[in-house]
This record gives sequence, C-alpha cells and structure tokens, in this order.
Amino acid sequence: MKTIIEPFKIKSVEPITITTEGQREKLIKEVDYNLFSLHAKDVMIDLLTDSGTSSMSAKQWAAIMVGDESYAGSPSYYRFVDAVQHLMPFDHIIPTHQGRAAEKILFSIIGGKGKYILNNTHFDTTRANIEYTGARAIDLVIEEGKNPSSIHPFKGNMDIKKLQQAIQAYGAENIPMVMLTVTNNSGGGQPVSMENIRTVKAICKQYNIPLFIDACRFAENAYFIKMRESGYQQHSIIDIVQEMFSYADGCTMSAKKDALVNIGGWLALNNNEWAEQARNLLILTEGFPTYGGLSGRDLDAMAVGLEEVVEEDYLHYRITSTQYLGNYLLKAGIPIVQPAGGHAIYIDARAMLPHIKPLAYPGQSLAVALYKYAGIRSCEIGTVMFGAQPDGKEKAAAMDLVRLAIPRRVYTQSHIDYVIESLTDIYDKKDELKGMKIVWQPKQLRHFTAKFDYL
Ligand SMILES: *Cc1c(COP(=O)(O)O)cnc(C)c1O
Repeated sequence: MKTIIEPFKIKSVEPITITTEGQREKLIKEVDYNLFSLHAKDVMIDLLTDSGTSSMSAKQWAAIMVGDESYAGSPSYYRFVDAVQHLMPFDHIIPTHQGRAAEKILFSIIGGKGKYILNNTHFDTTRANIEYTGARAIDLVIEEGKNPSSIHPFKGNMDIKKLQQAIQAYGAENIPMVMLTVTNNSGGGQPVSMENIRTVKAICKQYNIPLFIDACRFAENAYFIKMRESGYQQHSIIDIVQEMFSYADGCTMSAKKDALVNIGGWLALNNNEWAEQARNLLILTEGFPTYGGLSGRDLDAMAVGLEEVVEEDYLHYRITSTQYLGNYLLKAGIPIVQPAGGHAIYIDARAMLPHIKPLAYPGQSLAVALYKYAGIRSCEIGTVMFGAQPDGKEKAAAMDLVRLAIPRRVYTQSHIDYVIESLTDIYDKKDELKGMKIVWQPKQLRHFTAKFDYL
C-alpha cells in the first residue's frame, strides 16, 4: 500500500512526553496494571477510544470564536440545525451534551416495561438507557457479525429473518422503535449496507414501527457503502448520507464521533408529539432547547465538523489508515477481527496468546505489555470487561479482544508505523507474556477500577 498522505497539515502541536520502558514498568505497576488509572500524560500514543478525542480544524477553532452565547435563539443554534438538516433532514433537531443524553430522553418517552427495542447491536449506553426504563434491548445482527474471522462486506447488517421473527414474537404494538447502529460499534465498527437499511425500513413500514438510526459513525458508514456496495461508486458521500437518513424517522447522535468535536450530541426526529415531550425533558436536565447542555461555540464547532466529516479526502484517509494498521498486523501474523472496521482494529488476544486461559485475561496481559513496551494505551474488551456474573462468579467472555481505537485526525502514519512495529516485536516474544489475576474489584463495571497482578 502507498503512503497515506494525511489530508491536512499541522498548525498547532501538542507534545508527547517520551518515556522509557523502565519508567513505564514502574508507572503501570503503581496503578495496579489498570490502564484507565494511568495519567494520560504518561501515555505516548493513546488508542483508548475515538470518542471525543478528535483534533478540531483551524476552521472549527475559528467558529468557536464566532459562537454566540445567547441563552435563547442563538445564531449558533440555527447554524447547527442547518448543518444537521443538510445531512439528516428531520423536522426536529434537539441538541444534547452527548449521545447518551439523547438516548436517555428518547427512551424515557418510548420505553417502559413490556416494550422491546430491536437493534443490530445496542451500544452499552443505549442498552443501559433502554433497560433502565424496564424495556428490553434485543440485538439482531447477522451471524457473520459475531464471528471475528468471517469476512463479509457489511458485518453490521441486521438479520432480516430474525427481525421478522422478533416482530412476530413480541408483537408490533410492543415495539416502539427499531434501531440501526451505523457503524456497528459493539460489533467491531462494521458497516450496514444501504440495501439492509432499505429492507429494514420496508419491514418497519409494514408494521408501522418507526426506524431510528444510532448515527455516531454515519460518515464512516457512508464511505463503506461507496467503496463496497454495488451502484454507489459514483454517488457523493452527501448523497449516500441523505439516502441513509431518508429511510429513518429519527436518529440519536454522539457528536464526539463523526461530528469531529470533543463534546456534543443530538436527538433528531419527525414525530411532533415525541419532540414536544423531548424538549420538556431536555429542559429538566440539559437546558433550553436552543442549546441543550452545550455552549453556543460547541454548536458552531459541530456545524463545521459536519461539513468536514463528509469530505471524501478525509474519509479516504480515515478508512484507509485504519485498514493500513489492520493489514500490517495481519502480515505480521497477528490475529485481528476481519475485515478492519472504520474506527478501530481489534486484536484477537485469545487466539494470539493460547497459553493464557481466558480467566487469566489474555487481553489485559497484551494491553499491559503494549503499554510497558511502547507507551501505547489500548483497551481490553473481553473477560475483564464482561466476565463478572451477577452471582459474583466469573466466566469467559465470548471473545478476548484488545481494541486499538483511532482518534480522528490526531496521529500520523509514522505514529501508526510505530504501533505496528511495537506489536510485531511483542508478537515475536508472545510466549513470554504471562496471565494475570484480579486482586481487587468493585461490584459493577469492574474494568474501570479493578486492580491486577501477574499470576
Ligand atoms: C459513543 C456511542 C454512544 C453514546 O454516545 P456518548 O456521546 O458517549 O454518550 C451511543 N451509541 C454508539 C454507537 C456510540 O458509539
């Protein structure tokens, strides 16, 4: 593959503190081998998440200065609404401080006991907000989407047969909404095809069920459609985005992903009654409907981010640089979830480290080794994150993955080359990696604060 030229040049830099392996061994031991407990300044390349970690452009920073901080009716709000409606032509655009606030409001209105929300795969905050209301969150992704080594161009697709069966089983009257998460974050950042969106919509229409899109990575999904779905090669990204949303009745959005900002989100919808209820709830927790938990300057930064995220040069760089990382890891023999997703590469740590049993946390061992050896922070997505059972026991998660999430416009190819070199070196001495144990853990969400040691 040719060198990927980042479609931007750098005007303002943030220094990275270079540390030695010896220093990092001490630093990670001091925080009991929990990567969430590190000070970010002690991390050289931070691939913990792509959420809220984007670099803003000069134009976005300029828009920050133009932001208007009027309590009601700010011009920033109108610029934000225009930018959203250009891509997602819904009647009501309600800003929130991030994606989960939009979810909380939406499901407070439509959720409740006896209700079912169907989705390809619910993101964890989406599921939590649905379940909090007493409703149930049902995942219906295609079988290929659950198998790390199966190759399919649209592994995020909803299983149409399972969707029809679920509607029969739960009853259309108990399903206030079907959702599609694009790209499918919890399923490895895999895209959903236009054909799938269209088919899901047709079924929803038949039963009079609204379709909402969890839109966090809508632009990355559109680029995959352009690359992989026949008939779309000549379409512009904006056309593809508009078509995607033309099948939906609303969306929730975390602007911390594909709006290229560090905080923000929105709820968009056509239903007037729901919109009125949503604005009433918004005032309780987020703020007045023309700022929704954000400042005017945040709204302006999102408006510009939405123009930039659909630029084809940007998306080409974004998707091919993620693929570049995946391709070189595969070449080195490192097993990854295939094909590469849009925002992250997932290493199959269980396959890479067969000598470490799942209950000895191969993902955690690899993530710690990557930090110690190279100062790179990744995230275990496996038995540490999902293995604790409600009865206090523990069992192996479905997979033991290590996620390398790529912040948008932050790192250059040489940073990524350094990640590849470091992982290749670790792979060469993978048999030396040791299993780990948890020496302390909280009752819930243990991965954030658990303390570890080597076996
Ligand atoms: C990040 C994310 C959310 C939640 O958004 P926040 O801004 O983190 O609250 C919801 N759905 C998906 C698919 C996401 O990736």
